[in-house]
Amino acid sequence: MVATGCNMCLKGAKMVLFVTGVCGFSCWYCPLSEERWQKDVVYANERPVLCDDDVLEEARAMNALGTGITGGDPVGCLERTLHYATLLKKEWPDHHIHLYTASHLKEKTLEVMEGLIDELRFHLIDFSDISFVSRALKYRFDVGVEIPMIPSRVRETQHLIQRLKGIGIHFININELEYADRTIEEMRKRKLTLSNDTCVIEESGKAAAQVVQDEVVHYCTAHDKDSIQLRNRFIRRAALTRKPYEDIEDGMLVKGVIVCCSGRAARNIRTLLLERVDVPEAFVEVLGERVETHWALAEEAVPWIKPMEGIIQIGIEKRYPTYTNPLIEYIPL
Ligand code: SF4
Repeated sequence: MVATGCNMCLKGAKMVLFVTGVCGFSCWYCPLSEERWQKDVVYANERPVLCDDDVLEEARAMNALGTGITGGDPVGCLERTLHYATLLKKEWPDHHIHLYTASHLKEKTLEVMEGLIDELRFHLIDFSDISFVSRALKYRFDVGVEIPMIPSRVRETQHLIQRLKGIGIHFININELEYADRTIEEMRKRKLTLSNDTCVIEESGKAAAQVVQDEVVHYCTAHDKDSIQLRNRFIRRAALTRKPYEDIEDGMLVKGVIVCCSGRAARNIRTLLLERVDVPEAFVEVLGERVETHWALAEEAVPWIKPMEGIIQIGIEKRYPTYTNPLIEYIPL
């Protein structure tokens, strides 16, 4: 079964709310980056969160239908986690919230989560104890287990799946094992093969094929995460945040950019462009020393703009439509 939260994620409709990098566990395969690992920071997608409005604005910017609360261990800062869940539910009562945790939750915690959390996903580190999963199944939310596919744990994982089915688990997610800069050494120590094309461990897919043979189990590959889920989230955010002159290509925003030596020169270029081409004023914008416009318009204007004084460079930019808006590709014209 594919969990409700996964379906939304694959459509790119889930916001990722990272509530803390702090975690009391120390999994050797932990995918957190150096910037987030054990740092008490909050991010809504790629946006640093300094106040509640940052969370709501980010959710609006992508028209999020739900949120996945993650960390670190979100239960380690329970008050904060519940605060954000309440904030989102108050604004959008149907907003679907799933929460990841490796903590063994007690009744008191499960009770306060009811009504706020729609789906609980336990990351099992030690497979021997699943009593806390049984406990969570008595409450009004979907309960699943989400674990990375560690190649040496095939038999242990097969056995775990049978036991989880026995207690009536709602879903099990098996993730392709990935490596990060921080974990490369650990992966090598365990003689695992690091793929050169993507950040995955090559043996993980084969191992997963031996355990994913049941409809309660869903296998999530790194490709699902990056090429489908993340790309769809970018397309969704791009459609809502794009400027009139920006095109969307593969989840990136594409535009023409003319960099001038001063703001004054940029304003002059804008005036000239609008005199020469019949486009709405909103199609040419000055931002500091940059003139931004549709890429085709910039391309068309190259022969007369390039030789002009005060022009530093002209080109096409492709950027991710995230809060930080990183430049992914630059094509000089
Ligand atoms: S529980 Fe999660 S965040 Fe904590 S160390 Fe393990 S993988 Fe990392």
